[in-house]
Amino acid sequence: MSEQANPFESLQEQIDDAAEYIDVSPDVLERLKHPERVLETNLSVEMDDGSIEVFKAFRSQFNGDRGPYKGGIRYHPNVSRDEVKALSGWMVYKTAVVDIPYGGGKGGIIIDPADYSEAELERVTRSFAKELRPIIGEDRDIPAPDVNTGQREMNWIKDTYETLENTTAPGVITGKALDSGGSEGRVEATGRSTMLTAREAFDYLGKEMEGATVAVQGYGNAGWIAAKLLENLGVKIVAVSDSSGAIYNEDGLHAVDVKDHKNETGSVSDYAGAGKEMSNEDLLTLDVDLLVPAALENAIDGDLAQDVQADVVVEAANGPLTPDADDVLTERGVHVFPDILANAGGVTVSYFEWVQNRQRFYWDEERVNDELESIIVSSFDDLTNAYEEHDLPNFRTAAYVVSLQRVIDAYEEGGNWP
Ligand code: GLU
Repeated sequence: MSEQANPFESLQEQIDDAAEYIDVSPDVLERLKHPERVLETNLSVEMDDGSIEVFKAFRSQFNGDRGPYKGGIRYHPNVSRDEVKALSGWMVYKTAVVDIPYGGGKGGIIIDPADYSEAELERVTRSFAKELRPIIGEDRDIPAPDVNTGQREMNWIKDTYETLENTTAPGVITGKALDSGGSEGRVEATGRSTMLTAREAFDYLGKEMEGATVAVQGYGNAGWIAAKLLENLGVKIVAVSDSSGAIYNEDGLHAVDVKDHKNETGSVSDYAGAGKEMSNEDLLTLDVDLLVPAALENAIDGDLAQDVQADVVVEAANGPLTPDADDVLTERGVHVFPDILANAGGVTVSYFEWVQNRQRFYWDEERVNDELESIIVSSFDDLTNAYEEHDLPNFRTAAYVVSLQRVIDAYEEGGNWP
């Protein structure tokens, strides 16, 4: 695994690659390769023993040409300013690929939540919400969950914001629990768009889903739901992993059983139905029809990409392939369907949640899933149309060609000011 690639530089390279196929001046392009602003803050938080601990936190607002900044908040020891900047940029192009009226942002706190009590995490979260309050809002910047955050943290942020603002504003944040104004289908949405992208990709490439084999790297919210929904389509889950390692069974693993085991024991390792255990690297190089990286950035670098044997890669994680890996896989004829389409279900259902919050009118799960499906399918078609029309090297470049053009159009229609 490579720790080398700087995700912010990867983002800029991806934008440059697509810009070759678009009529855009270098000065406008430069603007679209940097965040508009980044908040860096130090949270002083009281621990349960009465001591004070300081946590560094960031919020990057990358681009707001198409609407309010939108994107998750991550809690992880490896969060950095450049990582948050990259993730916020990927959100800009993700919201543009699926054509929902948002820009892109992202936040993060340098913390390993496993080391803290729930009360400490609540104080950390509320402290961050206090720092974010002046720069977020239903029409300004709308955070959401990301790695190691979920409904609990979103509910705290909403409550802190509404208390400080003395108002109700459920649309200030998405990914909330249902009783706090969340949407049906939001928890499953990232895994669902991953499944839908894989289904459309197989159809486009003339491959059968029924009986196809898949390996899923990462068994968090995105990975495990993708596995479960792919299983429903008749795909055989031969391997899954988490940070503890990978499990493999050539006859197939049962997605829900593995999840139950992980809930009970904390990891996928030692699952009774596994034929054998292996490393994450072994999983990524298995001879499968479909590979779904669903963990963190830089899972596959240029070297590892030489050994990838999957025919199709669908990215549930953000930035799991380095630009070198992309080049190698393109060269080797492995089709990669990029993060900014495949995992866009999360932010798309966040958009539905925000619309429901603004209208105070709530949809049932069937409507959420139907509307999500139609957005992912039509975005997939936009991407393959661009791929064919411009004779593009791969589907990532296609996704950036489509999305970059939408952002440039919005920027140019508004004009530069002052
Ligand atoms: N964190 C998710 C992502 O990377 C969801 C963002 C959102 O819902 O705003 O797309």
